[in-house]
Amino acid sequence: MAVPQNKITRSRRGNRRSHDALVAGNPAECPNCGELKRPHHVCGACGHYDDREVVAQADEIDLDEDAA
Ligand SMILES: [Zn+2]
Repeated sequence: MAVPQNKITRSRRGNRRSHDALVAGNPAECPNCGELKRPHHVCGACGHYDDREVVAQADEIDLDEDAA
């Protein structure tokens, strides 16, 4: 098994990890509902993309269809 020849000091470890932080995305406003969404992705709040609905929302689906 490979073993490090020298100890990595707290300072060098910290310097390496100084670039590890995650950065927030670039949220854009949904043109349909105004919710913040990821660019080039379907809106998670209303299911719209490019001014048309591509994902039906759960509250619009009638689950009691066979029971009636
Ligand atoms: Zn939306």
